[in-house]
Amino acid sequence: MAASHAAGASALSHLECARCAARADAEVLQTVCSACGGPLVARYDLSRPDLRTLPEAFGSREATLWRFAELLPVRSPALRDGLGEGMTPLLATPRLGRELGIEQLWIKDEGRNPTGSFKARGMAVAVARAAELGARRVYAPSAGNAGLALAAYAARHGLEALIAFPTDIPPAFVEECQAYGAHVLVAGDTIREAGRALRDRVGAEAPWREALDLSTLREPYRLEGKKTMGFEIALDLGGAPDVVVYPTGGGTGLIGIWKAFAEMAALGWFDARAPRMFAVQMDSCAPIVEAFARGAETATPATSPATRCWGLRVPAPFADREILDVLRASGGGAVAVEEGDLEGAAALAAGIEGIDCAPEGAAALAALSVMENREMIGPGDRVVVLNTAAKGMYR
Ligand SMILES: [Zn+2]
Repeated sequence: MAASHAAGASALSHLECARCAARADAEVLQTVCSACGGPLVARYDLSRPDLRTLPEAFGSREATLWRFAELLPVRSPALRDGLGEGMTPLLATPRLGRELGIEQLWIKDEGRNPTGSFKARGMAVAVARAAELGARRVYAPSAGNAGLALAAYAARHGLEALIAFPTDIPPAFVEECQAYGAHVLVAGDTIREAGRALRDRVGAEAPWREALDLSTLREPYRLEGKKTMGFEIALDLGGAPDVVVYPTGGGTGLIGIWKAFAEMAALGWFDARAPRMFAVQMDSCAPIVEAFARGAETATPATSPATRCWGLRVPAPFADREILDVLRASGGGAVAVEEGDLEGAAALAAGIEGIDCAPEGAAALAALSVMENREMIGPGDRVVVLNTAAKGMYR
């Protein structure tokens, strides 16, 4: 990386509540909005002149998400030294597209990230920023991949990590987190119950009471790491695709990609057009699909979330309002697929394109047929599907 050019200063200016627009100081550790409990999001000084021509500089920078450092919250160059996260390939999939009747189809393969999933992006940024602001201990519940990423980046930045998984987590996840030096708690049927057990433990143990909660959207910066998927998609395509299809559990990736398109529009990088955003969930755990269909502003928790698609087994996403806002504002929608659809979709991607999809990515691919049947996508649309993880430890 010696030949690459360093990025400039972060343009981070403040935090703002996504629900009540209250402002918060970005230079101290924050969790949720102190006024309403909503998620805080990072805001940047997008009027800074150097940001408008930033894409011209990217080619000479290292091929990680830190090439977008001006639009990320971490100020110290030393803390931008991660594990090589981001800059995953956007794979053209013409044979798969022909099979599915979509002329222009790409899979963004997030399985190439450190620890094998898009969760690396969020944790790379959030853990680095937590370290920068003085955190020593961090914790989060996880359905699998987020825990791995948290454990790895906590090790990278010298923080102590505590991770809670539901009881049916494949043992390899627990072992790998422990190999990274993290403490692991296994409790409850889903990430929701694991999260409750985690908060009980944190409340009961003195050193953890002051620790930072890195649960999805309960702190502002995992979202910032994940938004870099949006920058990369737009830079690879020279603008926005028509449709982004996102397997949606906690929803940070979907919200992050949308935020990236809003920032790029404000910066004038491309024309202002944004993609239609679609959330994909499993029919046994589809709180967003159900809320979208009935026009609700918030989701009702799923009651029997029985899916082996771990990343989508999130019965009550904290950011339900924000996810639904993105789907509606973008002119997109939400689609549920069945458990039995996953295997065929994964086999198709592997068999005719050589792409190894996690169950979540397979769910997003399986949704394409449903979306076509319902005319949510047309044959001429430029469609990007996110494969959020490698199959890896799910095998
Ligand atoms: Zn608020």
